[in-house]
Amino acid sequence: MTAPLPNPGKKYDLDFARWVYDNVNGGDKMALCMQCGVCSGSCPIGTNMDHGPRKLFMMIRAGMQEAVMTSNTPANCTSCYRCVVRCPRSVPVTYILQDLLAKQAELGYRAKDSNENIAFAKSFWWSARAFGRTDERLVTAKYYWSFGPAEFWKRSMENLKIALGFIKKGRMHIGMPHSVKDKKGLKAILDKAREIESRG
Ligand code: SF4
Ligand code: SF4
Repeated sequence: MTAPLPNPGKKYDLDFARWVYDNVNGGDKMALCMQCGVCSGSCPIGTNMDHGPRKLFMMIRAGMQEAVMTSNTPANCTSCYRCVVRCPRSVPVTYILQDLLAKQAELGYRAKDSNENIAFAKSFWWSARAFGRTDERLVTAKYYWSFGPAEFWKRSMENLKIALGFIKKGRMHIGMPHSVKDKKGLKAILDKAREIESRG
């Protein structure tokens, strides 16, 4: 169970940094950050984040609670670990962002532009639950469809050339979706995971 923020609702709160150090997985290692910027400079998705990891860590130190808890940086991190292998102080940047994302959700915060991420996560988990695999065609189609028929066709047409290129090179499966053999076993695993999660 996540400890509540010491002063929820405050825009700035110097106790917030202590809360992150004590409650976010790897947060205690943030004290080692020397603000060199190697993480942000190495991040392939940095342009899609409202703040790079270096800046986000400084914002945490500065007590910018509201801005950090509504930042899209944790959600947009792809967990490529490039920042982790390059950080000269061995700060576990990816773990911090992953757990910060979980804490945002648990405490009822969400990034300003999180609709895309939520829609994608729902499509991803739908495929994982249904087939035990992620079928990129169905995940993409379901994801586009969540924004309505017009957006579905618009995005599909925009990406058609890329999809055809993948199919031509044998990088995209055509035909029925692949599925795991033991679907009952998969359901048992997912049910157990849900039960463990609900224990808090
Ligand atoms: S690379 Fe490491 S030390 Fe440098 S800013 Fe990022 S987290 Fe801090
Ligand atoms: S793990 Fe996340 S923050 Fe680190 S470089 Fe990759 S995308 Fe960027």
